[in-house]
Amino acid sequence: MSTGRVTRSGRRILRGGKSQRKADTTEPAAGQGVKSATSRAAGGKRRTVVEYEAPSDDQDKKLRWEPQNWRKQLENIRKMRSSRDAPVDEMGAEKCFDQNAEPQVMRYQVLLSLMLSSQTKDQVTSAAMTRLRQHGLTVGRILDTDEESLGKLIYPVGFWKSKVKYIKKTTEILQEKYGGDIPDNVAELVKLPGVGPKMAHLIMDIAWNKVSGIGVDTHVHRISNRLKWVKKETKSPEDTRVALEDWLPRDLWSEINWLLVGFGQQVCLPVSPWCSDCLNRDICPGANKKK
Ligand code: SF4
Repeated sequence: MSTGRVTRSGRRILRGGKSQRKADTTEPAAGQGVKSATSRAAGGKRRTVVEYEAPSDDQDKKLRWEPQNWRKQLENIRKMRSSRDAPVDEMGAEKCFDQNAEPQVMRYQVLLSLMLSSQTKDQVTSAAMTRLRQHGLTVGRILDTDEESLGKLIYPVGFWKSKVKYIKKTTEILQEKYGGDIPDNVAELVKLPGVGPKMAHLIMDIAWNKVSGIGVDTHVHRISNRLKWVKKETKSPEDTRVALEDWLPRDLWSEINWLLVGFGQQVCLPVSPWCSDCLNRDICPGANKKK
């Protein structure tokens, strides 16, 4: 079992021992018990100390549903992803922004790269981001860029005409309402034109380093259903997000997107997955046994 949150790129944020865990304000994962006790703080005042009590395995199984073999399947996917050479590793949203820019500019670039990435291959998004950065990718610069020029810079990303309008409108809102920065919460992010829940959770994670939910794209949606990581088959990425968040420990929410997207690009392909080469072939309900 992991000892702390692992970020999208596999960076582990180590937590301290027992005392630090008590101070953690993260809500308990499903199935965790909550124990209260009273003690005396300095000065003699009574105070209530709330701490989380890890349930025993038996309790855990009674309290919540979780997929069979998921820990082993996850471990196998981590092994298959250990070389970190999928397109998402080299050209994903975490690689497209200028690491030396001001934090506010970096956050804007994360937002833009994710807006460009929907329905678009990582290679195409990355190339468009390079052109935009050469042009100047700040709120001010994009406000000064007319739609036709912006279109030429982002073409051929998917739905580029609509994205030109979304980017211009969103950038105006950022300037007027947020002083040129991006919102720091999902509720306000999803109000921006062209930003949906999946994108908002990824923006929170990458731009603000806050985990607000699982970013479920088509890869995460497909693989979660093949592995039966959802209790009942789900029809949309948003349904899959809700189903996964119901049981997957919160400290894995950031990592799971990065792991499954790359796994879906290299092994568990949309059509003709490489089941015969997959370490999960004997414990995956969706494995194609014929290959
Ligand atoms: S066995 Fe096949 S369907 Fe299952 S996770 Fe591996 S590649 Fe995907």
